[in-house]
Amino acid sequence: MEFTEQTPINLPDDFIKMLKNDLGDIKCSEVISDMSQEPSISIRINRFKIPEGNESILEHLNISHRVGHCPNGYFLSKRPSFTLDPLFHCGAYYVQDASSMIVEKLSDFIPNDSKDLKCLDLCAAPGGKSTHLLSLLDRYENSLLICNEVINSRASILSENISKWGYPNVCITNNDPADFKTIQDYFNVVLVDAPCSGEGMFRKDEGAIAQWSLENVNLCAQRQRRIVADIWPSLRAGGLMAYSTCTLNRIENEENVEWICSELGGETLFTWRGYPGGKNAGEGLFFAIIRKRGELTNEIKRIGGKNESLPKSLSKVKINCDFICEGFSLYRKNDILKAYPQTLKNEMFAIESRLRVILSGVAAGEIIDSKKGEPVIIPHTDLVQNIAYKKGAIPQFEITPQEAIDFLKKLPISLKDAPKGYILLTFKNIPLGLVKNIGNRTNNLWPSSRRIRNF
Ligand code: SAM
Repeated sequence: MEFTEQTPINLPDDFIKMLKNDLGDIKCSEVISDMSQEPSISIRINRFKIPEGNESILEHLNISHRVGHCPNGYFLSKRPSFTLDPLFHCGAYYVQDASSMIVEKLSDFIPNDSKDLKCLDLCAAPGGKSTHLLSLLDRYENSLLICNEVINSRASILSENISKWGYPNVCITNNDPADFKTIQDYFNVVLVDAPCSGEGMFRKDEGAIAQWSLENVNLCAQRQRRIVADIWPSLRAGGLMAYSTCTLNRIENEENVEWICSELGGETLFTWRGYPGGKNAGEGLFFAIIRKRGELTNEIKRIGGKNESLPKSLSKVKINCDFICEGFSLYRKNDILKAYPQTLKNEMFAIESRLRVILSGVAAGEIIDSKKGEPVIIPHTDLVQNIAYKKGAIPQFEITPQEAIDFLKKLPISLKDAPKGYILLTFKNIPLGLVKNIGNRTNNLWPSSRRIRNF
């Protein structure tokens, strides 16, 4: 059921009491009334795929206006079917609540000339804030992002979203926050988007109302403290912790921030609260930036030394691969050819030997060994959607909306006048995926796990 103006939201009494205490009667009634309105819908554009000024290629999404606190965030005037939009599958934008885009604020606290930044998104699935961090980190030379998700079943959607976004300077891990104890005094930035009681989701998700209780708020607050305490030693002195929840009460928000500052040693630089609807028009979110006490030095932190040994799962390969840009080193993991940014590979290897890594660098292709001569490489979708892909290396073919949908459904498509061999399919000139043209038909290389169904 969707909430409309005619269906006032039925909120727990204890929640209303807390909200009144925090906001006073008038503001509290306003928030409750806003919670009965339709949620807004917004996207954040991937500037690596849609440069500034080219927004008109998203005309079909009914873009209405920019999100105030995020230059790449836009509200849509109605909800389209994202599944049926090929640009969604190209990673050209991420569908995200406007409040979450407050992550942009982090860039105000990181000097423009910073480099070698090591960042961690500790509670990362499905990847909204991680993709935002990757876009922000793009302006800092040689930065690395670790996206971690403790729940294994949520890690696959995280991998898919990160792969589509197209940055190679990323590792995805599947670890408990306590496992990071082997990596101390390392990260410049740690984002803890903590699991919470979800009050900010009340107008979007009735289940969040049904599960809410004061007891659960207190349990969540204790768990949030444990998560932050576990990861705090991994943040370097002078580093930034961004702490956020999608809930509205003080216990999980301000009180936890005060506890972090007094018990762990931090100072609050920034706090922000979005209520559902309201000025920012997104859902409810709390966001704080806390600096760890101590001086941030210029020292470049490394876990991996020059001689960091190769993780057992990887082997060096000597393969000439024309599809990959310069600046990447190639390794083999089972039958997958992997491309690692040369300047980050030692760090990625060191992380791989300390944590449970489920993705690092770029899956560039599949290696087919041959008894005679060189192995053959079948290029991978993740590569052509990534910065690591050498533009122009594979012949391109622009497809129509209907061909794109057929391709995403993994139906056979035929390409008139296209050359034989691997063809990079583009939609509105943005790389979507690959086929192998064998003349009268093509082999569709779109990953089966991403096939769109039931349309
Ligand atoms: N940051 C994500 C985004 O923007 O797309 C949303 C993260 S969601 C609010 C919180 C995440 O924390 C969930 O993916 C959940 O699986 C994870 N989580 C749950 N319990 C956790 C724990 N004890 N430690 C760390 N993460 C946990």
